This record gives sequence, structure tokens and C-alpha cells, in this order.
Amino acid sequence: MTKKYTYLFREGNEHMRELLGGKGANLAEMSNLGMPVPYGFTITTEACTQYYEDNETINDEIKAQIFEYLDMLEKQSGKKLGDTKNPLLVSVRSGARASMPGMMDTILNLGMNDTVVETVAKLTDNPRFAYDSYRRFVQMYSDVVMGLNKSRFEKIIDDVKAKRGIESDLDLTADDMKELVVRFKDFYKDQLHADFPQDPKDQLMGAIEAVFRSWNNERAIYYRRMNNIPSSWGTAVNVQMMVFGNMGNDCGTGVAFTRNPSTGEKKLYGEFLMNAQGEDVVAGIRTPQTIDHLKEVAPQAYDKFLEICDTLEKHYRNMQDMEFTIEKGQLFMLQTRNGKRTAQAALKIATDMVDEGAITTDEALMMVEPQQLDSLLHPMFDPEALKSATPITTGLPASPGAGSGEIVFSAEEAKQANDEGRKVILVRLETSPEDIEGMSASEAILTVRGGMTSHAAVVARGMGACCVAGCSDIDMHEDEGYFVVNGQRFNRGDIISVDGSTGKVYGQAIKSVPAAITGNFERFMKWADERRTLQVRTNADTPRDAKQAYEFGAQGIGLTRTEHMFFEGDRIKAMREMIVSKTTEQRRAALAKIEPMQRQDFEGLYEAMQGQPVTIRYLDPPLHEFLPKTDEEVAELAKEMKMPKEELDAVIANLHEFNPMLGHRGVRLAITFPEIAEMQTLAVITAAINVQNRHPDWHIEPEIMIPLVGSVHELKFVKNIVSKTADKLIKDSNVDMKYHVGTMIEIPRAALLADEIAQEAEFFSFGTNYLTQMTFGFSRDDAGSFLSDYYDDNIFDSDPFAHLDTKGVGKLIKMAAEGGRKTRPDIKLGICGEHGGDPASIDFCQQVGLNYVSCSPYRVPIARLAAAQAAIKFGK
Ligand code: PEP
Ligand code: MG
Repeated sequence: MTKKYTYLFREGNEHMRELLGGKGANLAEMSNLGMPVPYGFTITTEACTQYYEDNETINDEIKAQIFEYLDMLEKQSGKKLGDTKNPLLVSVRSGARASMPGMMDTILNLGMNDTVVETVAKLTDNPRFAYDSYRRFVQMYSDVVMGLNKSRFEKIIDDVKAKRGIESDLDLTADDMKELVVRFKDFYKDQLHADFPQDPKDQLMGAIEAVFRSWNNERAIYYRRMNNIPSSWGTAVNVQMMVFGNMGNDCGTGVAFTRNPSTGEKKLYGEFLMNAQGEDVVAGIRTPQTIDHLKEVAPQAYDKFLEICDTLEKHYRNMQDMEFTIEKGQLFMLQTRNGKRTAQAALKIATDMVDEGAITTDEALMMVEPQQLDSLLHPMFDPEALKSATPITTGLPASPGAGSGEIVFSAEEAKQANDEGRKVILVRLETSPEDIEGMSASEAILTVRGGMTSHAAVVARGMGACCVAGCSDIDMHEDEGYFVVNGQRFNRGDIISVDGSTGKVYGQAIKSVPAAITGNFERFMKWADERRTLQVRTNADTPRDAKQAYEFGAQGIGLTRTEHMFFEGDRIKAMREMIVSKTTEQRRAALAKIEPMQRQDFEGLYEAMQGQPVTIRYLDPPLHEFLPKTDEEVAELAKEMKMPKEELDAVIANLHEFNPMLGHRGVRLAITFPEIAEMQTLAVITAAINVQNRHPDWHIEPEIMIPLVGSVHELKFVKNIVSKTADKLIKDSNVDMKYHVGTMIEIPRAALLADEIAQEAEFFSFGTNYLTQMTFGFSRDDAGSFLSDYYDDNIFDSDPFAHLDTKGVGKLIKMAAEGGRKTRPDIKLGICGEHGGDPASIDFCQQVGLNYVSCSPYRVPIARLAAAQAAIKFGK
């Protein structure tokens, strides 16, 4: 049987988004709800994947179905593509399964050609409209399908406007539009050595193919990688009868949200432009009016729209983001989707809708993207510092947050500065989808043009970046590297501050203060905590990090990397002495200096966690990171150790390793030098006893974790040393204290033989950083340089060091979890690699039945919500 690649809107429904894409599924649903949706059909995502399988061609079977459905659309609408009496014009728009705003391409007014434009002019008695529509089509088609830069067309428009002495596009006459069409087509021919295509069916196939192709444009690939969307999904294409917002003053177009996407306030929020086409609103070329004005300009359409908004929000049980067009006073719905929103808005909407009785707490929890919470956890401007600062200008508060940094004027500069560790503010006339990487590399985005629904605003909100848009006071000189605002000049590199919550911009750096979890946020997180079954711990090496994590709700420490406690000042010297020691005596002397520092750190960690479990991992230093590097450093160390410098040079040369990351570290170090494990046990147990004595109501049970174990014998050897030391200390102290010895599972052999290792290990913590490195054979420190080619060529969708490879590495984890439980049914299982804070990886941890995830302090709230969502999706 042949596959069905095309669906009329009325054949689909909202549950078919995998096949029809989000836009197609929702257009179908709205049609079925009896809403005014212009007729159309959807070409499925499977047609897109087939297109790629067929080496980027649309095969005959799919082509035939497209023409069959075009035929049906023509019957439904009573119009015909290319007809000289009653021509059909269509839009061709992308629509993936997950919404990817602005990432892929759209073409409007398709079907226009030299004869159709005349018919449209006659039928509408509006030649200006007809030629305006035609010139827009030539412009979009040339850009999207043929790759001619649209700015070249804008130049031609500017040229005609200058010649006529007018400023606004609205003042262009029918003749001007006609001239534009001619000049656009000439430009097309000049560039491409072919006439602009006149056959509407050719136009249609060209446009559909361009949308398929746009699935793999650079910005779409980047967006997918940021949002963990698989490249295998493909995009659907929607072919829909055009309705026109640019036919006169009783026509218009707009976008609206059922609630405020910035604050979450329950009030219709949106913008529209009369006598305009869709792209005018989002492109930020003309500044639109707020939606309440629609009541005065088109009252009937406004009332109908309100009614539809209400129905849609109730139907989808979520805030909706809608596009509409009014043609001669009549309202048409072009799109609805769950609206992107800021983290603040997301929490307010979720808690409000629960209070309104509109949704359950589970639905509320599923409504907020865990990653989004990040923007609430970072500093805001210090209210005190703000009092004494005077804004240089104010724009629209498009996406909340606070950022200070150097001015840059392009996405490339922003990326480069970010790579160099500099903080920047991206200042643009307006942003376009190509700027997405530069936007994410900036502390804040400031634009001169555009409204709250402009590209900059939508994208910034989506990624939780601070953004102020439409700052029209700014007189921009992008090319010369400066701007002037209210008489003050700011150059590239000058520091400014941007407050996305108020829209204010300051000509100076402003101090910021840390965030706190209060109000809606606190309430919402309580629901998450009640719902989740996974514990959330933190990775922390300092009491300061531990305290922060505790405030963010961490339930313990899952990983303390003890070698990280030795990077500073005197500490690194003691560590170096230990590493280069030639005799056990020398080493013991160095260790005796280290021990009190470690004990003090551990006490700080126990205090910060207030009696919750703390896992301390024994030293795992890649030696080369700790060796003295300069001659002076070597000389100083030699003096300290009373050793001739030449002798020390020789020791260091001897310690050289070809693959230090696979070198003499972790458990291997403790096997060669058992006194290291002895010293660390002394520090851990003494710290625990001291803190227990200070806080009799806490219940402290140290968890000692041995890294890089691949064989049960390694673990057994070190565990013996630990037990001997610990048992004696506990006995001598007269404190009743239990402690636990476990291991990282980060070497594939340990995962394969987990049942054996569990004979000695009381807990496993999956070190998925190392396990990923070892499973792929990719150096985690170097893979970044070539993985970008993997994404570009769609070999990988995302970075396996950021999102767990559930297929391969995940198989090892599953196997290890089963093996561990077989030997020791109550074995505690956790994860402490970077993946422990990644929502998609947390889903996997839930499915495998781990006890806890552990992640960096700022990801703790994200992990708490992700764990709740995982419990809702996969819990028993
Ligand atoms: C790991 O390998 O996943 C891990 C947590 O250890 P580290 O990152 O310190 O190697
Ligand atoms: Mg590791």
C-alpha cells in the first residue's frame, strides 16, 4: 500500500503532531473546532524524511499526492492556482513537531505571476494591493528558494522611496509597486540568469522543497542542538489558501497570547498592524499597535477573536500564542500553539491556572521547561545600586534578567568575545534568526527596532536571555562601531547594563545580587518535590557551593572532587610536594600538611549540608595539572623540600605521562601510595566526628567514594586501608558512627562486572563524563573541536557529554544497575556526571530506577523539576 503523505486540515487533529507537525496538527484541530481557518493541507514530516532519503528530491509518489491535494484545495476554495478568472494564492509554511520559531522558512502569496497579478488587481479593484503582494512574493521566493539575500531587495525599495521622496512603505503607490516588481524580477534575472518562474506549480514545488531544505539550515541545526530535538524528525509543510491583511484599511494581521508571555498576567496580550502582511509584524519594520486597539478598529473581528482565545486556552489547557489575519473585517486564524514565555511568566501561569481550577498540579509541573528555571537563579541588579544609576534610555522589557558588559554590534563579535571569556551586550538595529548563536553568547540583547513579538524578543524569551527591544531613541552607526543616545556616544567596547524586566538601559556597569526561591517559584517547587521519587544532590567542592546548593534544595552532596580543593595558593604547593616525593617519609610529611586543610574543608561541607549525606571522592588528579610548570616554581619547590633542583627536575621528567587522563590517578594512585588513602580517611572521619559532636541531632554517615575502579580487587585493596583507619578512629572517639565505601562507575569494565564490584561497593555513582569518554573513545577535553562537524553533518544530534547517550552509555548503566542490585539488593545508585543536571538524561535515570542524581548547584532546581516530570511520565 502506498503511504499517505498529505492530509487536508479536516482530516487531521491535535494528536497527530508527529506526522503533521505542531502547526499542521493545530490548524487541523482548529478547523475541527469550527474556527475560521483558511482551507489547506499538510505534507507530512515523513515526506520530509523521505525527501532526505531520496537524496534531496521529492519523489513522484509524494509529488502526485501533493497535486491531488492541491486539486482538493482548489475544489474546497472554489479557486484555482494560476487561473486567470479566479486565482488561488497560497502560503507555504514549515511546521515541525516541536515549535522552532523563526528557524525555518515561509513563503506567502505563492501563485502570483504576470497574468495572475492583473486578475487580482481587477477582482479586488485594488492594483496597489495586487502588485504589493506580487513584489513580496518575488522577494520571499528569491530569498528562501533561490538564496538571494533579502537585503538587496530592501535596498531597491529604499531606492524607490528615496526617488519619490517618501519614508513609509505605506506611501508607495500602485505604480511604485509595479516598478518594484519589474526591478525585483530584473535583479533576479541578473543574478540567476533565468526568468522568475511563472508556472505556479513549479513555484509550489520549489517552495515545498525549500521548506524541507530549511530543516537543515545552520540556525535550525543550532536550535535543535540547544533544545535537544532530533534531526530525524523532519518538518511538515502547510499549504494554505492566502487571506489578506494588506488589502486595505479594513484588513490587518497580528499575533497575540492569551496571557502576558513576559509576566504571566491573565490578560490578552498582543500586537497587530492594519493593512499589512504577517511578516511586517514579526520583522519589526513597522511598530505595531497593542491588541486592545483592535476593539476600535475592527470591533466584530475583535469580539470573535476574544471568544476564540478563550476556547483555545481551555481546549489546550495552556497559554496560547496565535496568529490571525483580518480580511475585509472578517477574522481568520492562521496558527495556535502553546506560547513561549519567560520563566517568571511560566510559573505564574502554571500556579494561576491551578488556582483557577483549569489544570491539575501535574499538568502545571509539565507546563514549565526545567531548563528555563535557570534564568531565575542568576543574579538581578542590586536594587540599591539601581537607585543611584540613571538610565540612558528605555525600551520594551522584552525578556527579563539583568546583564552588564561590553558593547558589540554583531553576532560574530559576541561569539568571539564569549570564547575569550568577555561579557558582552549585543546591540543591533534588529536581530534576525541568523543571530541566534551570538544572542546566546551575550549577557543581554538590545535592539533599536521591533516590538514585544519581534524575533529578538521571542528568541530571547525562549532561551531565557535578557532582552530590551524597540529602543528607538538609539541612533545606530553599526558599521562605524558606535551609537548615540540622547546626545551621548557609546563605542564598541564601552560598558552598558540592560534590565530586561524594566526595559531600562544604563551607561555603566551595575552590581547584581543573587536570586532567591520565593513566591510562585517556591510553591511550584514544593509540588515538584512532592511528586518526584528521585533524590537530587549536588556536586560541590567548597562549602560556599554546598551552601548555595542547599539553598536551592539539594538533598546532599553526590560528589566532592577532593583534587579540586588544591588549586589555590599554599595548597597547591603541599599537593606538589606530595606528588614529587621520592620517599614514603617525604610523602607522609607532605600529606601531614594536606590533612588539616582537607579536614577543615570537609567540616565546612558537613556544616553546609546540615546533616544530609555527603559523598567524598578520593583524589583523582591528572598529574600534569598539578606539577610545577615554570623554572621558578620548580626552584621554589626544591627549596621547600630541601632537594637539589636538578634532582627535582629529574623527578618531574620521570612523572611525565603520554596520556595523563588515562594515567596514574584515581584508585591507581592509592594503590601505589596507600598513605594517601590513609590521610584522606583520617580527614573525612575526623571531620565527620567533629561535626557530629557539634550537632548531636544530625546523623552523619560519611560516604567514601573510590574513583576509576575497573576491578573489584582494586576496590578491595583500598577499602581495606579505609576500613582499618576509619574503624580505629571511630573506636577511639567513642562515637557511634557508620560509614560507607562505594565507587564511581566510570570505566566500562566496572559497568560490565558491576555484580562483582558490588561485593565490595555499598553504592555506585555513575561518572558519566568519564564513562562517555571511555565508551565513545572521545577525549572529553578535545572532542568539542570535531563534534561540531558531527552536528553539521547530522551524524550526532547533540553533544553526548551534555545529553546522555542512552543507547550506548545508557546500556552500560542499565547493565551495571542490574548487576549491582543482583549482588546487593539495597545498593544505592546515583549519577554525578554532568548528565545529572540534564532533563533528558534525568528521564533516563528515572527509567533505570536510580536513587539520586547529582549536579552543579545552579542546576539543582532544574533537576528537581525534571525529576518530577520524569516521575509523572515514567513513574509507577
Ligand atoms: C565523571 O567522570 O563523570 C565524573 C563525575 O568525574 P570527573 O568529571 O571528575 O572525571
Ligand atoms: Mg571521572
